[in-house]
Amino acid sequence: MGRFKIETGDITTYSVDAIANAANGSLLGGGGVDGAIHRAAGPELLEECRGLGGCETGQAKITKGYGLPAGYVIHTPGPIWRGGAFGEAELLKNCYENCIRLAHEHGCKTVAFPSVSTGIYGYPLDQAARIAVKTIREGLEKYPDIEEIIMVCFSERVEKAYKKADNY
Ligand code: ADP
Repeated sequence: MGRFKIETGDITTYSVDAIANAANGSLLGGGGVDGAIHRAAGPELLEECRGLGGCETGQAKITKGYGLPAGYVIHTPGPIWRGGAFGEAELLKNCYENCIRLAHEHGCKTVAFPSVSTGIYGYPLDQAARIAVKTIREGLEKYPDIEEIIMVCFSERVEKAYKKADNY
């Protein structure tokens, strides 16, 4: 295989065709990885996002990458964890599916993801990792034109959880 990688890093430094952003519904920036992506991309990203009219949880919208080394940013608001009985798992799966579909539609061959919903949004890491890994692997099966998807973890703890979920 070799088409799926899990590593520790800063997603704003990745020279890939598209990076996903764990956004919020406004798409107007926030904390965590969203803030880091906006800082690195510069004000033009916010300008383009203003025109998008927000985004529903689990859906995704694409913009250019501006000052980032990545060509595109695919913004996806993950679910806020509310105990697990509010459709969180399905919504998180939708995030990864919709990002991968948009990447495919824009001809992206290399895509990087952050650990959506597991920071400020509080999704339990092990559960989120299992959903992410499964959905990414399914996406790679579905779209053979995508050459590589990288799960970019912001700490070794997160990397370990994703590797465990992928049975490394
Ligand atoms: P959410 O609101 O979806 O929970 P957060 O940004 O709070 O999003 O957290 C999602 C994950 O992104 C967390 O694991 C956080 O540590 C990680 N993260 C924060 N900054 C970066 C970065 N520059 N690159 C990759 N991951 C990051």
